[in-house]
Amino acid sequence: MVVERGVNDGDILDLVEFSREHTFALRFIEFMDVGNSNSWKSEKMVWKREILAAIGARYPLRKVGREQGTAPSVDYEFVDGQGDIGVIASVTEPFCSSCTRARLTVGRKLVTCLFSETGHDLKSLLRSSATDEELVQFISGVWRKRRDRYSDEPLEALHSIQGYQSKDHKKIEMISLGG
Ligand code: SF4
Repeated sequence: MVVERGVNDGDILDLVEFSREHTFALRFIEFMDVGNSNSWKSEKMVWKREILAAIGARYPLRKVGREQGTAPSVDYEFVDGQGDIGVIASVTEPFCSSCTRARLTVGRKLVTCLFSETGHDLKSLLRSSATDEELVQFISGVWRKRRDRYSDEPLEALHSIQGYQSKDHKKIEMISLGG
């Protein structure tokens, strides 16, 4: 559930109850400025701490932590034993330093960050009958050089500037990246 203030923040508890009843883990994601067309503004965000407070007031929670130490979600279990939830706080608690996610677009571009402007052409290499070893070299070479820290960067601005807007570089749309 991507929580957006004034849009669906009133549905948090209903969805939590639905997930408890049907025994699946609901995962919350802070509203992020992915792509170029979602009109992201800091005022529209519901922070992780607000999400946890809304849920915890009705169903007390206990922190479990990140799966394998690197998962994007921090998990919490209900104290009454009726399941768990996760929260991905990409904006207020960014985790770029432990990010291990590469993405592949439908055009076979290797993308090293959800907020990238461009990707690395894997298609030409695949079509040129490159060996598996050459592919591995290419991918690991791209990965070693990456310096992506997009979510780390705007946090200071978010805390200090009212009405902080998304950075203005042209990002690849999430619909091409697959999340
Ligand atoms: S902003 Fe980029 S580098 Fe940071 S966690 Fe997200 S995908 Fe990974």
